[in-house]
Amino acid sequence: MIDSRMIDGYCSECGAKEQDGLSCLEQFEYLLVWEHDDPDLYALHFWTVSNYMLQHPSNFTREGYQLTKSLFVEAYDNNWETPYILKRNRELTTNKPFKITNPTPLAERMRVLRTWSMTVNDVYAAGEMKAIESIKKWRTAIRAEL
Ligand SMILES: [Zn+2]
Repeated sequence: MIDSRMIDGYCSECGAKEQDGLSCLEQFEYLLVWEHDDPDLYALHFWTVSNYMLQHPSNFTREGYQLTKSLFVEAYDNNWETPYILKRNRELTTNKPFKITNPTPLAERMRVLRTWSMTVNDVYAAGEMKAIESIKKWRTAIRAEL
């Protein structure tokens, strides 16, 4: 289960700013809604989700985070096409001896703030019409900061 905690208007984990009364997670959910109406945006779904998840490590076990990070880096550096990314993702996550997602209840999770040059708020704030461009910029920023 994915979660974010806002403290004084900022995400306690990725530092995203609250906007329009929406938490970090709620802004992310907007991006997923935008995808429904735009196949070109939906084609970036892996990146949208990975971007968000990599900025919220508390949702993962340590092994799960490493796995997600290495898939992201390989896919980015080798410019993999989406079908190949999804195939690799299935291969990497099937029959693993460890858990990917953090089994700790949401309220008891440790969240450590890390500052990023771009967060989900930048994508949300730029708006639906710029979503494709924003998500690509976001992934490039994250790749440089991982
Ligand atoms: Zn956040």
